[in-house]
Amino acid sequence: MNNSCFEQFAPIAAIATNQQTAQAIASLTQDPNITLWLPSSIEFSTDAQHYDNSLREHLATIWEQHQAFVFCLAAGAVVRLIAPLLQHKAQDPAVVVIDARGNYVISLCSGHQGRADILTQAIATSIGATPIITGAAHNLSLPAIDTFGYIYGWRKGEGDWTGVMAAIAKQERIEVIQEAGCMLWREHLPTQHSFDFGFTDSQIQAQPQARIWISPTKRKIVPQNNLPVVHWHPKVLWIGLGCERNTSRKLIEQAIDETCQTYHLATEAIAGIASIDLKADETGIVEICQRRNLIFKTFTAEQLNQVDVPTPSAVVKQEVGTFSVAEAAAILAGKNLLVSKQIFKSDDRSGAVTVAIAQTDQEYIGRTGKLYLVGIGPGNLNQITPAAKTAITEADVVIGYRLYIDLIASLKRPEQIVESSPITQEQQRAKRAIELAQWGLTVAVVSSGDCGIYGMAGLVLEELQATGWNGKSPQVQVFPGISALQSAASRVGAPLMHDFCAISLSDLLTPWEMIQKRLTAAASGDFITVLYNPRSQTRTQQIVTAQEIFAQYRQADTPVAIVHGAYRDDEQVILTTIEKMLEQPIDMLTTVIIGNTTTRNHAGWMITPRGYLGFATEN
Ligand code: SAH
Repeated sequence: MNNSCFEQFAPIAAIATNQQTAQAIASLTQDPNITLWLPSSIEFSTDAQHYDNSLREHLATIWEQHQAFVFCLAAGAVVRLIAPLLQHKAQDPAVVVIDARGNYVISLCSGHQGRADILTQAIATSIGATPIITGAAHNLSLPAIDTFGYIYGWRKGEGDWTGVMAAIAKQERIEVIQEAGCMLWREHLPTQHSFDFGFTDSQIQAQPQARIWISPTKRKIVPQNNLPVVHWHPKVLWIGLGCERNTSRKLIEQAIDETCQTYHLATEAIAGIASIDLKADETGIVEICQRRNLIFKTFTAEQLNQVDVPTPSAVVKQEVGTFSVAEAAAILAGKNLLVSKQIFKSDDRSGAVTVAIAQTDQEYIGRTGKLYLVGIGPGNLNQITPAAKTAITEADVVIGYRLYIDLIASLKRPEQIVESSPITQEQQRAKRAIELAQWGLTVAVVSSGDCGIYGMAGLVLEELQATGWNGKSPQVQVFPGISALQSAASRVGAPLMHDFCAISLSDLLTPWEMIQKRLTAAASGDFITVLYNPRSQTRTQQIVTAQEIFAQYRQADTPVAIVHGAYRDDEQVILTTIEKMLEQPIDMLTTVIIGNTTTRNHAGWMITPRGYLGFATEN
């Protein structure tokens, strides 16, 4: 399985020219989406590919086949090498440069459209380097206005993108008129932004210096005081279509384009075409969908016939069994009918097309969503795996409990949507994450420690199962983290060196009798036992009972570690004994480790021997 966040940039070519630089990016190039290229004179790993000719010649041969290039080479040399290959920012691959020590990652070229800025941040988090991004929007912590809509599947319309971006860089007032599409992007702007979403009476605003339309409507660009204007078109339109058998693609296209033009709708805002299932193989429609990257939905006559339409036809009913194809299909796919049935006939009468248009409330993204279930470790950025950090940086949305979201705040990208909620709302968080991923976004759900140990991973998978999930869409990737049992253990020495178990004392989701049974089994089985959720403000008796159970099976002086907030600012580590453990502060941010019968305390360190006394081990 391709468990990597770099998949969306693949294929990626990484280029190094000597041993040192190959070494600097070695951890990166283990990723299955990245190919490491080296001169043939350099021997490195078996996975590396070699080129015989000059790097300049080699680049020319592989340039077109890659979405991204990562050079571990002097930036100046890279500029000279790629200069002859660059064509246009809408076309060029992402180009990223890493210095020979792997300390800095520079987004060199195609920062927005080639997504080099995002790749740079993902690589930097992955190898623990500092990202260098020089784009103005990024440095104002604003979304890149010429690319951010792609997250939601929007298409770009006409406009003076350079002019609008220059106005944003100068922090001039930008008027945003949004008539459709997701509003989430607005909720996460920095407080100091210059977007204006509409007047309020109390605000006396300066004239806008640029305008952004987000709408399915096509507006003529009128040069007005040289005001730069751009258009984003969320894919909210569904074309309901009926046609005679073998109607030409040309006539169908003409019908769609003319209807859009008449009603001032942008063809870029079309999500797809909807029709009756009899038309599923209609060549003209299938071809248009392929050429324009539209989706084609079909419905049965029975489904279509249940829809209330403005222009029912008895003739159509007689022919295909429903009073309406175009209008009913448009409504089933798009909900709100904008344009009722229009009829087009070709001049030579070799076909006929009916077109209706409906608009959905939520745009069609057109991607398979992903769920990254991410463990962020105990709560210090140094204790998160590079893969987990990369997943968080790369995701469109990050969802988690407020405290954890704060702990990872420095990984946030400007375009990212971050949704935090109070601790008790795990179920809501899981549902929200699934909803956004089913829509087509990449959503990282964060848990402290490991996400699969009393974390969000299980909740999300359970919820997915309840929705009848097929295991593939949305895609799920689980990123492990250092669990509290490991982080707490590391603070006191090596208490988990023999068989151990974890028991949560929370009886919110588990009957207390079951917990008690497990405590007794763990104590009698001489397991080192890690207690999660040991005591809350209202749940205070469980830890007392746990102590009593262990006191029956182990010596009173058996070492016990009480670790509060491991690796966090308020960390507190106490080494005590079964007898005295209840005298210590224990709360919900504490993990308790109870040693087995061989565990000892030596000079303030908790040590569990690897074997039992009298049993020699060989290694
Ligand atoms: N998924 C988490 C566990 C969540 S349950 C993990 O793998 O670590 C919450 C419990 O974890 C807390 O009640 C506490 O017992 C423990 N815990 C989480 N973070 C901790 C930390 N930094 N220090 C000590 N205990 C912690």
